[in-house]
Amino acid sequence: MRLMTTSTRPDPQTQALCSARRRLATVLIDGLDPAGLQAAKQLIQWGIGTLMLCDDRPVTASDTDFPRTARGMHRSHAASRLLDPGDGSTVVIEVPAGATASGVDVHLVLRSRPRPQQLHSQLRAACRASAAVLPVVGDAQAWRLGPLLSHQGGLCPDCLLHHGLLPAPPETSGAAAAAPAPEAERPADAEPLPEPERPAETAQGSDPSHRQQPDPLLQAASHLAVHQIQVLVEGQRPAAVQTAQLITDRATGHQSSLSISPHPECACLTAVEPLAG
Ligand SMILES: [Zn+2]
Repeated sequence: MRLMTTSTRPDPQTQALCSARRRLATVLIDGLDPAGLQAAKQLIQWGIGTLMLCDDRPVTASDTDFPRTARGMHRSHAASRLLDPGDGSTVVIEVPAGATASGVDVHLVLRSRPRPQQLHSQLRAACRASAAVLPVVGDAQAWRLGPLLSHQGGLCPDCLLHHGLLPAPPETSGAAAAAPAPEAERPADAEPLPEPERPAETAQGSDPSHRQQPDPLLQAASHLAVHQIQVLVEGQRPAAVQTAQLITDRATGHQSSLSISPHPECACLTAVEPLAG
């Protein structure tokens, strides 16, 4: 008896095409918390052609993924020194925050418990800079991957706002003014979700009990993000994040997906160029 596996293996031509796309692809990782760092390592192991790293926050004593000598450096600088394979298999580039990087195929925006009012503006800025933006966002309840955002057709950050999947920014104007109001039950003076607390530095800085413990779900979210990037880059089949948000519940680990379409009231739909003829 022989197991039939040939139907699931790509033929040599497809393998060569996927390999070429991988080598030509450029991925920007914006946010180098442990999940971002892990995603960067995995993409390098996969053989991505160019990896851009962006995060101006300094490495602190609780960032145990970085060597002690990296403390005080920008995370993007420390990560590029740490991860660059040095053999040219992947070009690792450090990108200053706010700089516009051209030619990015997938722009991963990784935020662990971001301030809600900042997330929308950060996603909009990312969409202005890159053709495809993949958010990976942790909040108090879950890790949320996707949906893929683009101003070249498909969902945009304002679509998420209209769908109620992002809190409204404090000041709205222009197209964003048509967006729904923040949830009524959320008081105006509600505290924003905090950035993750970093353990206080102690005299026993090397005491394992004081080290930042890896969040296993965060690692799962990172793995899932890398997988979706691989599917997008290879282009052989549609990626789940092109039409859905993949959600991993923090309390239970339950995984679900939420189908999301461009919102009918979003300005991005009318901004699409009409078909010729
Ligand atoms: Zn939209």
